[in-house]
Amino acid sequence: MKDLKELLRPNIAALSPYTSARDEYKGKEARVFLDANENPYNQPLNRYPDPEQHELKLELQKIKGVAPESIFFGNGSDECIDLMFRVFCRPGIDNAVAIEPTYGMYGVTAAINDVEYRRVLLDDNFQPNADKLLAAIDSNTKLVFFCSPNNPSGNDIDHSVIDRVLESFDGIVVIDEAYIDFTSLPSYTKKLDRYPGLVVLQTFSKAWGMAGIRLGLAFANPAIIAVMNQVRYPYNVNVLTQRKALEEVRQSERVAKWVCEIIKERGRIMPIVAQLPCCQRVYKSDANFFLARFDDARAMYDHLSENGIIVRNRSKITLCGNTLRITVGTRQENDELIECMQKFK
Ligand SMILES: *Cc1c(COP(=O)(O)O)cnc(C)c1O
Repeated sequence: MKDLKELLRPNIAALSPYTSARDEYKGKEARVFLDANENPYNQPLNRYPDPEQHELKLELQKIKGVAPESIFFGNGSDECIDLMFRVFCRPGIDNAVAIEPTYGMYGVTAAINDVEYRRVLLDDNFQPNADKLLAAIDSNTKLVFFCSPNNPSGNDIDHSVIDRVLESFDGIVVIDEAYIDFTSLPSYTKKLDRYPGLVVLQTFSKAWGMAGIRLGLAFANPAIIAVMNQVRYPYNVNVLTQRKALEEVRQSERVAKWVCEIIKERGRIMPIVAQLPCCQRVYKSDANFFLARFDDARAMYDHLSENGIIVRNRSKITLCGNTLRITVGTRQENDELIECMQKFK
């Protein structure tokens, strides 16, 4: 990786960050808090949250094997994605490279930050080509985005391609692992020590079943995490979210059970959908959803929605003509889906 100073936006490298009241107070045995202009009533929500989410990081270290200095919490992964652009990319000058199709937020966030976004097409099996990715990179490329398992295709991205980019590119490689719990491949968090420019994103929104609390994660080398902490809002993860996440992380066996059940259901319903006369192809899935191609995706979408079942029509996405993206639900929900699909004339 290039020197971090060289990769950062110059205004970010020069930033002297805001320090909040709770940043300055470090531990000790404080009993009386008169430093932050809080209301003394309405405990415990009257207090600002721990800006460093210390307890949560310690608890997460136990299950992820990543040290607290290498963990960042955001208001969803979407905040982490936005921070990548704000921290590294000069608007109107720098660019980001990403696989296509993939999660739409990278492109939208690039546009919001006025950063050029270069899409490198996947092949017919939704796999990238390393040479094409490397050819799209130039001296102003700060970020390369992978999403594995990929949304909306559902498959793991070939690790040998990701590895080649990690070896050859001297900027930041972001790997979005929102669906990591549903695949048998290992997480790239295992390779954080080897690649100083690697940023791994995960989220509490999918396997953890907590999309409602808005909590996303970035894992990276401590120097990158430190800069992200300077740029984010001081109290970006609220008290209720921190408390709920802590509670859930301490009983993470539940998540393993849900994941197991969802993977089993995925294996049960994918072949049934594949055998429908109107279904052309069901794509391999390593996530909690799958992409299916139909003769007429719009007609199937309308049929399902008329019966109260909502899936995602991905037909307008590159390489995804006539496809629906279907999330794996409970056994009963999946039965309803199949039954309804089988009634499609
Ligand atoms: C769902 C999803 C996320 C999660 O975003 P949050 O802001 O954490 O809810 C991130 N990346 C991908 C690819 C997703 O599909």
